[in-house]
Amino acid sequence: MRILMIGSGYVGLVTASCFSEMGHTVTCLDIDHEKIEKLKQGIIPFFEPSLKEMVDRNVQAGRLHFTTSYAQGVCNSTVCFIAVPTPSQEDGSCDLSYVHAAAKAIADHMDSYRLIVNKSTVPVGTADEVSKTVATALAERGCAIAFDVVSNPEFLKEGSAVQDCMKPDRVILGTETPQALDLMCEIYSAFTLNHDRILTMDIRSAEMTKYAANAMLATRISFMNELATLCEKVGANINSVRVGIGSDARIGYQFLYAGIGYGGSCFPKDIQALRATANQVDVAMPILHAVESINKKQRQLFIEKILFHYISQGGVQNKTLTIWGLSFKPDTDDMRDAPSLSIIEALLAEGARVRLYDPVAIPKARKYLPSNPQITYCIDEYEAAEKADGIILVTEWKQFRFVNFETICSKLNQRVFFDGRNQYKAKEMHAKGFHYYGIGYSPKSQSLHESLSAIQANPMEKSLAH
Ligand code: NAD
Repeated sequence: MRILMIGSGYVGLVTASCFSEMGHTVTCLDIDHEKIEKLKQGIIPFFEPSLKEMVDRNVQAGRLHFTTSYAQGVCNSTVCFIAVPTPSQEDGSCDLSYVHAAAKAIADHMDSYRLIVNKSTVPVGTADEVSKTVATALAERGCAIAFDVVSNPEFLKEGSAVQDCMKPDRVILGTETPQALDLMCEIYSAFTLNHDRILTMDIRSAEMTKYAANAMLATRISFMNELATLCEKVGANINSVRVGIGSDARIGYQFLYAGIGYGGSCFPKDIQALRATANQVDVAMPILHAVESINKKQRQLFIEKILFHYISQGGVQNKTLTIWGLSFKPDTDDMRDAPSLSIIEALLAEGARVRLYDPVAIPKARKYLPSNPQITYCIDEYEAAEKADGIILVTEWKQFRFVNFETICSKLNQRVFFDGRNQYKAKEMHAKGFHYYGIGYSPKSQSLHESLSAIQANPMEKSLAH
């Protein structure tokens, strides 16, 4: 199949290279000339594990191409995927201008039947709107050319995007004509050889499925974060509670971690867009309002925890704080709505100096943060800890689990640790001399839990305990 992928970002480039890996001939199109130039030179414009190897392989095999030309892209393809941004507008609703610009550009250049696939996350009814845009543009050209619009929302996760795309849990297809369904099944057949993962439905349900999935995941996060706040007040431990409830098969362990709240380019905007859709049809969705406000509060509570610690020392002014992890989650350099940004901004506003380290996101972080003498970018987690008055773990990159704390301690001014992702055990951090803050437990419940775990692991102590 000859495929055009419009938008060569996190979704478009990954999906395009996976399609080409499966034997399709794919052209990636973007209006960002610099991005396309880089791609032609073999430079991947963002960090995504194992993507470069796949792109290189398929470029060499002649199955993956890059262009900024709609004329070239549309003429050479039967199926045109749209994977452009759908950011929030001021009122929270989804900005569809990029989607419609892409749809119009397809219509301006198509000369025979085209299948247009919405892969961007778009509100219910967008396929109908896109059909109108295409029909209007064709009418302006005086052309009567057949086309279909289908919905094929994307569920890949940055950081494991290639794997997610190659082995999708499900492929959602919202289609309304047999021809469109046949073409989509042909594209995805190689991905579903092992067992059928294609779920077909009407277009509006497919559009809604994407928002419903993100809203459900965000709800779990906010639920656990709110519970974590309660745990801190009543002396319970959110980690024990997590394990306790996750063992119920109806609940499961995934997405039950308390932390600093969700960020990134999808959850915040998608929750807002779903709320806007509900508002437009007068459906109150108080649950989504709660999910959002808990998420905002969670970042604030973490910042307050940090500021509160230094009150007795006259505040964080002129203190040096280390930040480990800047991207909104591990294994990506995506800084869109990353919690680190709010934390850094708050610390800078209070007069703190910050020493920042992230394994891959520093180049992107520089674009999001002001140029400020209070900020120092560091080459590793050790340099970041130099003469610091505390460490703040924001993004749980795996390498932070294996740091040499002896070296870290030798560099610090004060042993204070704010663990925004509950990556460390309080007892172990206390033993290293740290003043340790996690999320969702009070030190009392934590030490009791860890003593009990130690007794369970050591029968001698257990019998003594009896
Ligand atoms: P992105 O910003 O990384 O990439 C979008 C690309 O589209 C950019 O390179 C931009 O230059 C290009 N573009 C904009 N307008 C264009 C036009 N008219 N013609 C051609 N190119 C154009 O965005 P992304 O993260 O890949 O997200 C794309 C869509 O996929 C969004 O709707 C998003 O919600 C959805 N999505 C994202 C993820 C994710 O993890 N990033 C996951 C699932 C769904």
